[in-house]
Amino acid sequence: MTNCKLCKSEQVNQFSELETIIYKESELSVEMEYSVCENCGREFVSKQQILNNDARIRDAKKVVDGLLTSTEILEARESLGLTQEQASLVFGGGRNAFSKYERAEVSQSASMDKLIRMCLKHSNIFHELLTEAGIKIPQEQLCYEHNVVSYKLHKAANQGRFNQVSTIESIEERAYG
Ligand SMILES: [Zn+2]
Repeated sequence: MTNCKLCKSEQVNQFSELETIIYKESELSVEMEYSVCENCGREFVSKQQILNNDARIRDAKKVVDGLLTSTEILEARESLGLTQEQASLVFGGGRNAFSKYERAEVSQSASMDKLIRMCLKHSNIFHELLTEAGIKIPQEQLCYEHNVVSYKLHKAANQGRFNQVSTIESIEERAYG
């Protein structure tokens, strides 16, 4: 619970409002949190609310920029069978990169975004990056076997994994409206 810094009251209520933000000529509707002290009427935005608001703005901008949102990054990573730490080893960006992306604390670069999408589409590229990072994923989690199965065949044989990809694409299509 946040105290009012002015009157020290603990009677602080949380609200949120949709605010319109203009970004690259697009109008974004973003939910913004704020607090109001019931005792003295002071309106303020707490530190945690600032972080939450920033994360929502960042995610809304990503949609305009055509980048995977924080939730889509998480879904992509999980569908590739990687922990956050492994994902940072495979894709780069520093040790805590993926926990920051998934909390919308920072946005991934356009090149990072492309690399993740490439790996979702092309298992041979993903396999190469895994090998380079020295990561061994248990065989049953892999969606292909030594690259000897044709793309079409292993796609059919691993529908679960590839369905995940189409989910991400359909979210994106909706976002573009
Ligand atoms: Zn107050």
